[in-house]
Amino acid sequence: MKIVVLLGPPGSGKGTLAASLSEHLRLAVFVIGDALRAAIDAGSKLGLKVKSAVEAGRLVDDETILALAREFLRTHPEGVLLDGFPRTIRQAEGLRSLLSAEDDLHVIYLDASEETVTSRLSSRRVCPGCGEIYNMRFRPPKNDGVCDNCGVTLIRRKDDTEEVIRERYRVYLRETAPLVDYFADGLIRVDGNLSGDKALESVRGELCPA
Ligand code: AMP
Repeated sequence: MKIVVLLGPPGSGKGTLAASLSEHLRLAVFVIGDALRAAIDAGSKLGLKVKSAVEAGRLVDDETILALAREFLRTHPEGVLLDGFPRTIRQAEGLRSLLSAEDDLHVIYLDASEETVTSRLSSRRVCPGCGEIYNMRFRPPKNDGVCDNCGVTLIRRKDDTEEVIRERYRVYLRETAPLVDYFADGLIRVDGNLSGDKALESVRGELCPA
């Protein structure tokens, strides 16, 4: 089974790259953040448990996240793209323990500066209907404030405020950046400052059979 991990700070373009790679590789994407936000919106037991951490930009506990990832891998034996997991060494170890020697693990690291990600996230808007991601400065919708695909009013994520963006970046440096060394062997580095198309171009050859 092919597993592609997308690693990088919040706002480095993981979501955009995951969406285009999933088409090219025909793999399902597991966006952990989306799963958590959906649980919060539904007011489920999981949602109530993770709400305060997600809205404050802190990480949810490893056990909860590993249980979600385990279930997604179990139900997608053909392979998956993982956007936002693992985010700690403990989660990375948990992922490794779920894989067998035949599994084909690729880790893509989107490297972007704090300045780039802060500026991207503060002008990011998302469509609550189809999940399309826009940027009011660099990739605005055609019609003010509504999604090009489905006409739904775009929203700003609760954790895309300046204060929470800063906290998320701090958490990234402390908890997730060490994974770049952890996965150093065979890591595919991508310049996270590139546009979505260029980022896709730079990894496609390494992941897709010719
Ligand atoms: P994201 O949409 O990937 O930026 O994730 C939004 C939020 O969900 C994060 O700020 C965390 O609160 C939580 N989250 C997402 N993925 C993980 C993870 N692998 N481990 C812990 N918390 C996570």
